[in-house]
Amino acid sequence: MGRGKGYTLPMEIKKLFFPRTVCALCGQEIHQDAPLCSDCRKKINQLRRPAEIMGDLVKGHAVFLYRSEIKTLILDFKYRDQRHLKDLFVAEILGLYEEMEMAFETVIPVPDARERRWLRGFNPSLSLARGLAKATGTPLSEKLVTRVRNTRPLKEIPLAERRDHVRGAFSASNPRAFRRGLLIDDIYTTGATVEAVGLALYEAGFEELVFLAVASNY
Ligand SMILES: [Zn+2]
Repeated sequence: MGRGKGYTLPMEIKKLFFPRTVCALCGQEIHQDAPLCSDCRKKINQLRRPAEIMGDLVKGHAVFLYRSEIKTLILDFKYRDQRHLKDLFVAEILGLYEEMEMAFETVIPVPDARERRWLRGFNPSLSLARGLAKATGTPLSEKLVTRVRNTRPLKEIPLAERRDHVRGAFSASNPRAFRRGLLIDDIYTTGATVEAVGLALYEAGFEELVFLAVASNY
């Protein structure tokens, strides 16, 4: 695949071109335009998911298994103010996007199923969707989906009941009459949220929805 390969310049030259920084995982000093050292890059490459399609009402893919180093990076991105990790995640989602060879009219972030105040207004799925929209030249739609009621944290709800719990939690508008949309999320767990959002978008006139996520729990 060749994605995510580092530069092979000698270290002396790297030091001239790239500012000194530290690996986002191990803290080792690195001289490259990437957030991870080559050892940590290898570790996350081993956490890539098999390429099978997930989901029912909305089908899609996730890049990584939500484990160990990937879990650390996603938690850093979402809750520990490591927003620069967006570039790494968007590049990975972009890889999946290109493999799908599909065109979409719009990119839509999957909203959180419950009201949450992100640190300084940061919204992880919006940040990723914005990055992918820019990278692919596809219009971003950040306001099509709205939450109409709050839900309990899905972690507290048995897997089999999550779908019922979030059903009807979202509504959607579609003023530009889009038909093909790409949903973007950070973590795909049971798909309950993605499906509830998808249902609202289908009701608003969408005909085909696909999701891409950074990581999946299973
Ligand atoms: Zn490292």
